[in-house]
Amino acid sequence: MKAELHYCEVDDLRPQIPELTRIRQHIHQHPEMAYEEIQTARLVADKLRGWGFAVTEGVGETGVVGTLTVGSGKSIGIRADMDALPLTEQTGLPYASVYQGKMHACGHDGHTTMLLGAAEYLARTRNFNGTVHLYFQPAEEKGFDSGAQRMVKDGLFERFPCDAVFGLHNHPGEAPGTFVFRRGPFMSASDKVAITLKGVGGHAARPHLTVDPIVVASSIVMALQTIVARNINPVETAVVTVGLLQAGVANNVISNSAYMELSIRSFSTQVRQQLQERIEALVHAQAASYGATAEIDYMAGYPVIDNDDAETEFALQVARELVGDEQVIAHADQLMSSEDFAYMLEQRPGCFLRLGNGVGEDGCMVHNPAYDFNDKNLPIGAAYWARLVERYLN
Ligand SMILES: [Zn+2]
Ligand SMILES: [Zn+2]
Repeated sequence: MKAELHYCEVDDLRPQIPELTRIRQHIHQHPEMAYEEIQTARLVADKLRGWGFAVTEGVGETGVVGTLTVGSGKSIGIRADMDALPLTEQTGLPYASVYQGKMHACGHDGHTTMLLGAAEYLARTRNFNGTVHLYFQPAEEKGFDSGAQRMVKDGLFERFPCDAVFGLHNHPGEAPGTFVFRRGPFMSASDKVAITLKGVGGHAARPHLTVDPIVVASSIVMALQTIVARNINPVETAVVTVGLLQAGVANNVISNSAYMELSIRSFSTQVRQQLQERIEALVHAQAASYGATAEIDYMAGYPVIDNDDAETEFALQVARELVGDEQVIAHADQLMSSEDFAYMLEQRPGCFLRLGNGVGEDGCMVHNPAYDFNDKNLPIGAAYWARLVERYLN
């Protein structure tokens, strides 16, 4: 442990830029999807081991945990996600994905590399007192049975306990190096509902002998619109979207059944519960009123990203020290997208933050085949994680 008080600056990471860029672009070129992150996990494990971390592989399937202890003190956990998406890349970059239908279109290649950059720096300088656990997780994009969930189920916080946990996501729409925060509920819970309606099919010219599921489904679509408008408190936020509706095969046939899928977003447990109750009640009552039946499969997706006040204040302070007030947004708007880091935040106090990826021409949205992580963030994100650890374990 060094005695002097120097906390990591972005300039301290500049010598690592060529190496970090090489790692990021290598991972980008070889994307792996949920629970297939074999090569990526191996790269992460080999690097961490080489720098002197204790490494545990296979946590939550393909997750990797790197642990480094210096002295004795508190412990901190930092998470990065490693998985790619089922898209075919259209960037034309020299390091574009070599696989059809697999692409790092959400910047998880950058998240992994920034945390590796911090790991190398922390192992080399050892300017902290305590234990740092780096959680490299699989399958963030999976939606259900995701990587954070499996790592938590695999005993992540019992085997590698931390006092607080932090994570970040890149953020198109803000300049690189701009840090984005919000206390409390930041990103929404996301649930999925599958509904199968059973009627009585028959001839289109003899509707009186049928129970037409298309009429039932249409009625349900309209009834669902009243939930946000009439049941949810107007000061709360919720989304009920019917994203899929399938029924029928021909104009002269009344179908036997119809199928619908809904996407549901909310920012509080109470609203989330109320949405489920109202959707189930409306769908069953509407179906019954026409003599049809409904089967509802209500699938709980990621919970709300609910940032703790103290940890958010701390993470915000570290960002201000690193890049200055003008590059920090302290009170961002809520986001309707969701993140499985929420499962980790359910277990430990912590903060999920965002880091600008670019504006204008560089502002391409994530999950777009033209997206690329902005390498300008590599030294900034790495320095941020390193400084956060040094400040937390000082
Ligand atoms: Zn994504
Ligand atoms: Zn993502």
